[in-house]
Amino acid sequence: MNELAQRLAAIRARMDAACASAGRQPEEVRLIAASKTRTAAEIEALRALGVDDFGESRMQEATAKIAELDRRALEWHFIGHLQSNKTRELARHFHWVHTLDSIRLAERLSAAARSAARPLQLLLQVNVAADPDKYGLMPKELYPAVETLMQRELPGVQLRGLMTIGFQQADEHQSRASFAALRALLEGCRQRFGEDFSELSMGMSGDFEAAILEGSTMVRVGTALFGVRDGTLG
Ligand SMILES: *Cc1c(COP(=O)(O)O)cnc(C)c1O
Repeated sequence: MNELAQRLAAIRARMDAACASAGRQPEEVRLIAASKTRTAAEIEALRALGVDDFGESRMQEATAKIAELDRRALEWHFIGHLQSNKTRELARHFHWVHTLDSIRLAERLSAAARSAARPLQLLLQVNVAADPDKYGLMPKELYPAVETLMQRELPGVQLRGLMTIGFQQADEHQSRASFAALRALLEGCRQRFGEDFSELSMGMSGDFEAAILEGSTMVRVGTALFGVRDGTLG
């Protein structure tokens, strides 16, 4: 096995073990390869190993790779900070957006995606720790924002769940507490707004097991899969 295959097998084994200790099925958790700074060839190699979901953070870099790799065969997730002047491009190239954080952006994405064959899948990013240096909705802003989005019934987009970025360098207890907080917010949304609201994008290389134990349905893993990123690019 080459290095990439070994890393992938190790991550899948850790995901399976976390699912087993949480009493969950491995199919409930999707592995998204966070492929920013990685080449199309590296993505192709992972695809050959059975990974279908890729997360990109920068539009220009992403669209070049997506064009090279054929959009239809893979599932592309936008996980970078969302800018309103990029919504058209985003709707054209991606299937999921994990970083929605305003009504205005949802309206722009809807306008851009309304003629697409399949709705653009949206996750609202929540700043669970209410850290002023982080993007995302504050927890107290979430239910009013979802309520507004539900009332608008925006064509072309579908609100599917929530996303958060965990604490950097947190201990396991802190990580689990922030992921549990996101899960509680998702459950609040489900009670208020319905069962379609079911995705929890949480967990990265350093904390994906904690996230799975707290109900993550999508882990976004970069470094543990591809190796350490060049610091100037990451
Ligand atoms: C880069 C990135 C990841 C992956 O981070 P690693 O620590 O390398 O696994 C996950 N989520 C987001 C939003 C990212 O930008």
